[in-house]
Parts: sequence; structure tokens; C-alpha cells
Amino acid sequence: MLTIGVDIGGTKVGAGVVDDEGRIVHEALRPTPADRPDLVAETVADVVRELAEGREIEAVGVGAAGFVDETRSMVRFAPNLAWREEPLQKKISGLIGLPIVVENDANAMAWGETRFGAGRGQSHVVCVTLGTGIGGGLVFDGSLYRGRWGMGAELGHMQVRPGGRPCGCGQTGCWEQYASGNALVIEARELAAERPEDARILLGLAGGKIEGEEVTEAARRGDAVALAAFDTLADWLGQGMADLAAILDPGCFIVGGGVSRAADLFLDRARKTFAERLTGNGHRPLAEIRLAELGASAGVVGAADLARLR
Ligand SMILES: [Zn+2]
Repeated sequence: MLTIGVDIGGTKVGAGVVDDEGRIVHEALRPTPADRPDLVAETVADVVRELAEGREIEAVGVGAAGFVDETRSMVRFAPNLAWREEPLQKKISGLIGLPIVVENDANAMAWGETRFGAGRGQSHVVCVTLGTGIGGGLVFDGSLYRGRWGMGAELGHMQVRPGGRPCGCGQTGCWEQYASGNALVIEARELAAERPEDARILLGLAGGKIEGEEVTEAARRGDAVALAAFDTLADWLGQGMADLAAILDPGCFIVGGGVSRAADLFLDRARKTFAERLTGNGHRPLAEIRLAELGASAGVVGAADLARLR
């Protein structure tokens, strides 16, 4: 049976028809009406109508960034779109006659990766999505963990350094301020300002404005500051995963998101830091730290599968 998964991103709404083995059989895209969040439901309905044309579709899963309530129908708060208590499920189902479930986008990605990607066959999985921030998803005993009110697994907002860098969530010192794509750039900018003589390649590439791509490229060319920024990210990542393992004891971690495309620059060091900082290390099995496999389609595949299992 086919279901449709929809991933509402900040710039585009991606959608796919997905079969029960997690394969996308047809895809469609729309730009996100970011300045008109009230129109997002219509955009989703529009892309679903296109994909459903001539196919028998059982249900639709919609992944959205933000706090999705425990009934999986309402987005209580979205960081990128100006949604507050948005009744997304009701709006979309009013436009198309199909069952709809709404899911946090990082949860949908975690589910997609666990079922059909790097976590295949694993029952206890922690997904860490490194983008501009850090998204998270937890699978326990083979089920997605959502928390009491649907707001669980916001791993990026563990406050690893209270009083530290301010975070978009209103708190300070959150993990995503130290181990995300944005954190990498902040670190590289700070180091380059302190030690410009060690950042010649980076500064030459960036021409005054250091962004993530330049840090990655400079690190590949051996720039000392860019490499140090990746080392810092790797250590914060490994430390955070060790703390998560102390509580959750997963069988594997899956590291995905845009920053993971540069995994060759930080993942081995993160594994080493993880093993060193893990409580009881040497006397327990080490959770594997794997790279995500599904890339940008994990959210669509996961949302579609969660709609099937609704
Ligand atoms: Zn935060």
C-alpha cells in the first residue's frame, strides 16, 4: 500500500509517494510560502493532489519543524514559520479527503533512517541531525519516542554550558550552539579573529565572511584554524553522545544532516571522544556511531511510514 510523505522545509515542501519498503516511487516539490504560513496547508494539499493523481493512497504523513502536540495534529510552535497553535492536520484534511498525521520533522527523519536507512534492524537508536542547529529523534524498543506532550528528543537544546552562547530557543549554552553547522562557523570565526596567521587559507577563501562551506574547504586544504574548529565540533559531539548514552544506552547513533557531508573531517574524532567520555567505558558494549544513509529523503520516507503505521 502506498502512502505520501511530506517534508515542510524553510524554503521548499518536498513530497513523495512511498511504498511499504521505504522506496520513493514518485516525487514532487513546491516552494514554501515562508512569508504566508497560513498558506502552507494549501501548498501541502496541492502537492499531495498531484502525487495522488491516479494512485490509491492510504494516508499522508507531514513532517514539520517545530513542537508537534501529542495528538500529532497541531504545531504548537515553529521556529522558522510563524506558526503558533497551528491546527495543521485539520487544515490539510479539510482540503484533501485522506487521513493525515503531523510529525516533528526530526522525528520523521529518525524513523526513516531507523526503518530503512543506517539503523535497519536496530531497536534502540538515537538520531542526531547536524544542520544549522541539531535535530534529534529517539527510537526505543522499536517505537518512536515522542514524550508526554510530543516534545521529546530536542537533543540540540540540552544545556551543555549554562550561561554560554545564547540560543534561538531562549536559553543559553545549548548543545546546538557547540556542535552544529552554525557552531562550526562561530568557532572558526572566533579562532580566525584570534589567530589570523593560522587561518590564511580560510581567510583567503572566505574573503571576509566565513561560512560553513569555506570552513570545510579550508579544512580539506589543511588550514589550522578550520581543522581546529572541526576538532572542537567533534569533541562536543562525542561528549554529547556520551551523555546521551549514559541515559539512554542506545545500540547505535545515526549522524545525519548537512554537516555530515563533511563527516570525514570530524566523525572519527567524535567516536574517539565518545568512547573516552562514556561512563563505565571499557566495561560495556560501545554503541556504533553510523552515518545517515537516506540523505534529504529521510524525512519524506519516515513521515510516509509513520502515516502507514498511524
Ligand atoms: Zn536552545
